[in-house]
Amino acid sequence: MHELSLAVDLVEQLVEVLEKENASRVIEINVVMGAMSGVERVPFEFAFPVAAENTPVSGAVLNIEEVPLVLKCSDCNKETETDDLIMVCPNCNSVSVEIVQGKEFLVKSMEVQ
Ligand SMILES: [Zn+2]
Repeated sequence: MHELSLAVDLVEQLVEVLEKENASRVIEINVVMGAMSGVERVPFEFAFPVAAENTPVSGAVLNIEEVPLVLKCSDCNKETETDDLIMVCPNCNSVSVEIVQGKEFLVKSMEVQ
C-alpha cells in the first residue's frame, strides 16, 4: 500500500526530529495534503497509527489540512481553484497551465514533548 510506505517515511522523519530536539514523543502533527499530492486521506489516516506503532510517534494526533488544486494559466493569466483534477484551465480551457498549489504533502507543524 502506497500510503503505508509514505506513513513509514513520515514516522522516520518525525523520529529524527525528535532526536534533534531532544524530545521523547510526538503529541500532535499537522500535515498539509494537496489534492494532487497522490496521497489518499482515508488510507493515510489508517496507515499512520500502524506506521507509528512501537515508535515515539505512537499515539500522536494526526491533523490533515487538505488544500485544493490551483492552476495558473499562461494563456488567460488567471489563477483558478478547481475540483477537477485535470490540467486544463477552468476559465478558458487552455492546457497551458501550471500547478500553483495542490501537489504538496508535508508536515506543517508538530508538537513534541
Ligand atoms: Zn486560461
